[in-house]
Amino acid sequence: MKDITDPLSARSGIASIVDENIKTKLDIYGQYSYWVEDDYTPKKPQLLSHTDSIKGKHPSEQTINRKLYRSAKNKYDKLLGYHSGLYHGHVKEGDYRINGTSGGFATWTLVQLLKSKKIDGVLCATQASDGDGILFKYRVLHTIKDIQNASKTKYYPMELSGVLKYIQEHDGKYAIVGIPSFIYEIRLLQEIDPIFAKRIRYTIGLICGHQKSTKYAEAIAWQQGIEPGKLKDITFRVKNENSPPNEYMSMVRGIVDGTEKTLYSHARNNIVSNWPLGFFKIAFSDYIDDVFNSTADITLGDAWLKEYEEDKLGNNIIIVRNPEIQKIINTGIKQKLIAVKAVDAATAIKTQKGNIHHHIDEASYRFRRRKDKSLRLYDKYVTAPSITFLKRSVQKARYNISTKSHIYYAKAVSKNDWSYFEKKIKRQALKYQLIYLVIDSKKDGIRTTFQKISNRLFHKKPNQDR
Ligand SMILES: Cc1cc2nc3c(=O)[nH]c(=O)nc-3n(C[C@H](O)[C@H](O)[C@H](O)COP(=O)(O)OP(=O)(O)OC[C@H]3O[C@@H](n4cnc5c(N)ncnc54)[C@H](O)[C@@H]3O)c2cc1C
Repeated sequence: MKDITDPLSARSGIASIVDENIKTKLDIYGQYSYWVEDDYTPKKPQLLSHTDSIKGKHPSEQTINRKLYRSAKNKYDKLLGYHSGLYHGHVKEGDYRINGTSGGFATWTLVQLLKSKKIDGVLCATQASDGDGILFKYRVLHTIKDIQNASKTKYYPMELSGVLKYIQEHDGKYAIVGIPSFIYEIRLLQEIDPIFAKRIRYTIGLICGHQKSTKYAEAIAWQQGIEPGKLKDITFRVKNENSPPNEYMSMVRGIVDGTEKTLYSHARNNIVSNWPLGFFKIAFSDYIDDVFNSTADITLGDAWLKEYEEDKLGNNIIIVRNPEIQKIINTGIKQKLIAVKAVDAATAIKTQKGNIHHHIDEASYRFRRRKDKSLRLYDKYVTAPSITFLKRSVQKARYNISTKSHIYYAKAVSKNDWSYFEKKIKRQALKYQLIYLVIDSKKDGIRTTFQKISNRLFHKKPNQDR
């Protein structure tokens, strides 16, 4: 078989639904790829192009948002799209918040849809146990308990071909949870396939800084002594009484010297968990700008706001677009099942400062560098004003880290030597830190910058998205 994946494809698995001769499987770098027999010739190039979020010629996220949610009642913002409600807060009912990644809203919303019989099943990212070494997969879930067990963010690659095949074969009403490019590709698929238009009734969108390969989980574990192939489970964000939500702590369970161990580590002590550096990023993440998942019925993310910095249990930013889901939220407020504050667009946007800088403000650098005119957003970003030298340097450093981490890691595995990866990648990370040293000292002065560095060194300052 041969790999025909475009390097910037979102790798959602939808190509396998459009053309059943395309199989979606992991490649050696731990990212999903499209595989075909050697004598394959594409039979449906137009449909494949229509459902390709990065390259195809099709309605934009803004057009779909307008088509689905424009109404006299809804407000509009350029970044958030049409929406009926903006909130931040968390779920009060039950254990949704403590078991969730942020405020527990994704799982709670799905359960409300199931309880009220608006859906029969949910397409969720959940633990996998197929014995193929893949830790998490999308599954179709039909019970409240299973949906609750699927809570928590998995910084792990996902693909939809298996669950979409299930929907094709089983009539019913379904909801799906997904990152922006996946929800967008689902919307595009719904345009060309009435089965999915009818059966996928609700879309729960997550905000997504970037998608990781499977090697991200593997590397977090290997740094702690669990060798590749011996990791059995990982929780990427454990809620922890002693640290704020933006200071991620992970749990890994796997085999060390023949014994099963469960180990915890803080992002600040585990080089690959430093989120803004973008280790093991899958390339497409850098070529989308729909930060707020604007084609989804509700979008959820972390409420990265100053007022919540010390709130260890986590909070969501909540952007509601679908009237049925708005009713669920209104009932939740009335019955005191959720604790939310209505906010304005500026506050909602403020929660994602780092993502907006990276995905929108500084995107022109990446598009110009790529020089691939078939990229959907190419013209928009190559004609955008150029960014400063220092910002270009940040982007270049991030690009080097994300692309080189895949290659250095594969080599470290073939040498069975973690230190090879660590040594090579630390050099790249150091360059990034040095650029930020210059940026911070220009902004805050040398004295404050050194104070910040000392805070970071002595673990007083969390590892935040920039
Ligand atoms: C790869 C990734 C990157 C993210 N980056 C950001 C970011 O930069 N900024 C930000 O504010 N928020 C980000 N998020 C969203 C954030 O981590 C939370 O998922 C979101 O706030 C919802 O939290 P919750 O407590 O309401 O969800 P929970 O109640 O914990 O439920 C989470 C739901 O998401 C599903 N899910 C988990 N992982 C995946 C996945 N990989 N793909 C599809 N579905 C999944 C689960 O099955 C579950 O239904 C990211 C999420 C992912 C998956």
